[in-house]
Amino acid sequence: MRALVKASAAPGIEMRDVPIPRPGSNEVLVKLEKTAICGTDLHIYQWDDWAQRTIKPPLVIGHEFVGRIVDIGEGVRGYEEGQRVSAEGHVVCGVCRNCRAGKPHLCPHTEGIGVNRDGGFAEYVVVPASNLWPIPDAIPSELAAFFDPFGNAAHCALQFDLVGEDVLITGAGPIGIIAAGIARHVGARHVVISDVNDYRLQLAADMGATRTINVAREKLTDVLDELDIDGFDIGMEMSGNPQAFNDLLTCMYHGGKVALLGILPKGTGIDWDKVIFKGLEMHGIYGRRMYETWYKTTQMVLTGFPLHKAMTHQISIDDFEQGFELMAHGECGKIVCDWTG
Ligand code: NAD
Ligand code: ZN
Repeated sequence: MRALVKASAAPGIEMRDVPIPRPGSNEVLVKLEKTAICGTDLHIYQWDDWAQRTIKPPLVIGHEFVGRIVDIGEGVRGYEEGQRVSAEGHVVCGVCRNCRAGKPHLCPHTEGIGVNRDGGFAEYVVVPASNLWPIPDAIPSELAAFFDPFGNAAHCALQFDLVGEDVLITGAGPIGIIAAGIARHVGARHVVISDVNDYRLQLAADMGATRTINVAREKLTDVLDELDIDGFDIGMEMSGNPQAFNDLLTCMYHGGKVALLGILPKGTGIDWDKVIFKGLEMHGIYGRRMYETWYKTTQMVLTGFPLHKAMTHQISIDDFEQGFELMAHGECGKIVCDWTG
């Protein structure tokens, strides 16, 4: 089968011919329809510090996908061949304290599909049946392909009660854009989102952000005056940029709540006074709740959440290089690659 492989410890990704994997017990084989490009895939492509620490080539990358079940391993119940599915990208151990307490998103033994085991940038992928998420017929495959980052945005945005609250999101990448939409969807008052990229800020506005701010030109503190508020009730750090994180802390209201999703460089410092004297509540966010986040995102799309507005490009998998180039330049929202055409 064809697959995008990180073949060696160097920048780049290759389309290679590799054997079709076989599902073991409690696993299924999925034939891919669509795979979306994640920032993580770009890190692996560019072979940055994180990728060098984490990835063991050769590896088939990709963890945002949708396809159909074509083979079912021993012991799998509740699924049938032909069924359309996406899958949770985090494979958990199932036996640790958190897994057994119904909190598998906090499993310390989490492995990533397309990160620690072969992934979904391929014609076929094997996943544990317990990771599958069936996709209702009413949801098109190009949207189902990126339920994984949709879930990151939802897990983060739904961490706190947003109804009537003033929300600040730093970083209008695909996840920040979707989080802005969710904040509006559930009834936040002001939804302010910052970035340095006007193209992405426009996507966030289309998605429901009430005020976008390009921090290369404008100051966040000026927006507080404009909105006539003393600070934001809820903050979501979704840029991974230390300056953005510090600016967010500056703009939080006393007693505000901050969810941290963006992956900050090692050693990032903050002014702890802003956390302590304002009594901020901070929450780290990793992955998605299994499987409550998947349930909520699915129902949101079925009841009209405009997820399609976060998708800017649909390309053939043959054009994957162009897709990665677009991602690197940032003139895009979600990019979805097609395996069927
Ligand atoms: P992305 O890299 O596409 O988006 C980040 C955005 O931040 C970009 O649009 C960039 O222009 C913007 N940015 C850069 N400097 C900024 C600044 N000073 N102020 C405001 N914005 C600035 O990433 P994404 O796919 O949307 O993901 C968002 C973040 O979440 C990334 O850091 C990613 O690594 C991380 N992530 C975390 C998890 C998790 O489970 N915790 C899961 C997925 C992604
Ligand atoms: Zn576990």
